Amino acid sequence: METKRENIIIIGGGPTGLSAAVYNARAFLEPLVIAGSPPGGQLTLTSDVENYPGFESILGPELVEKYRKHAEKFGARFVNENVASVDFSDQNNLKVKLNNGVEYSARSILIATGASAQWLGLESETRLRGRGVSACATCDGFFFKDKVVAVVGGGDTAMEEALTLTKFASKVYLIHRKDSFRASQIMQKRVLAHEKIVVLWDTEVIEVLGEDKVSGLKLKFNSDKSKDKVKGDELEVQGFFLAIGHKPSTDFLQGHVDLDKKGYVMTYARLAEDFLRGNVELSNEKREYLKGGLDKHYSYSTSVLGVFAAGDCVDHIYRQAGTAVGMGIAAALEVERYLGEKEG
Ligand code: NAP
Repeated sequence: METKRENIIIIGGGPTGLSAAVYNARAFLEPLVIAGSPPGGQLTLTSDVENYPGFESILGPELVEKYRKHAEKFGARFVNENVASVDFSDQNNLKVKLNNGVEYSARSILIATGASAQWLGLESETRLRGRGVSACATCDGFFFKDKVVAVVGGGDTAMEEALTLTKFASKVYLIHRKDSFRASQIMQKRVLAHEKIVVLWDTEVIEVLGEDKVSGLKLKFNSDKSKDKVKGDELEVQGFFLAIGHKPSTDFLQGHVDLDKKGYVMTYARLAEDFLRGNVELSNEKREYLKGGLDKHYSYSTSVLGVFAAGDCVDHIYRQAGTAVGMGIAAALEVERYLGEKEG
């Protein structure tokens, strides 16, 4: 069966992909959104969002639903599946194959696949995932009403997770491998002032204890700073929450577009920034290519012309719904211009 060639396929159903879909749909490009399975991205794992302009407080899943309805109203189409592979060897016929075997072809692609949570990599952590081990306090906190739980990490996510868990748990241990947090001052302040949160500094989790469900954690103290807050080296908890960063969802792009060492997609803007910082060496050919792209203001173009990328799969710094939306819109406008220039 011959597949219809789409104008634009947007891979990703989070804030980036959906806001791009609103713009591309209003430009009559009839975008096809491969929204993932389950669809919605990281925002669907969040409860209250209080820093999205225009909404003093809104639930993450509700915000996603609003984006999606908005895009649908203007003609965007959705497929709730994951991408298995891509083939960008023919710039005029960019191919995307889904996990269910269905294949699509397009004149342009926007990658907006976001990023997902990192794990410590312990065997016991994997075995007890969903049995007390979680990477989402908003999703699973409810199951730990009046129980003792622990969060690992020292960034903003860890602060948020610990604070969320105080709504359910009787006590929250926040375990961090260093003696200071890297989280924003305001979040640190809230955590350190909370009566239910006990911080274990200079402490690592080396094993999650329990047969069928989490019963505790085996700890390694790297200093004496928090040793007296625990009896021995085992901590009794019923829940264990990971908050140690994210990995961009870009494995399927390996070898098809340029990625950095951590797997974030290298757009023209990222490449230019890294070049100016002296982090990358560029061949003359690559320099010309970059200059050509920047002259056309294709900041969100990847190393393959016609394939664009935006949102958390590119952004390793801000990772906010608002910045993801902004990037999605900018990329959508570049896609629109690219398709117009290609035709004209
Ligand atoms: P992050 O800032 O990269 O912090 C990850 C934390 O996990 C660090 O404290 C790190 O320790 C620790 N860690 C990493 N690997 C570990 C391991 N194997 N074992 C133990 N600890 C480990 O990640 P994030 O907290 O997810 O935040 C990511 C970005 O999103 C940040 O820019 C953040 O500001 C932003 N964010 C903002 C908000 C908000 O504004 N509402 C909310 C969430 C996130 P070290 O410190 O020792 O490296």
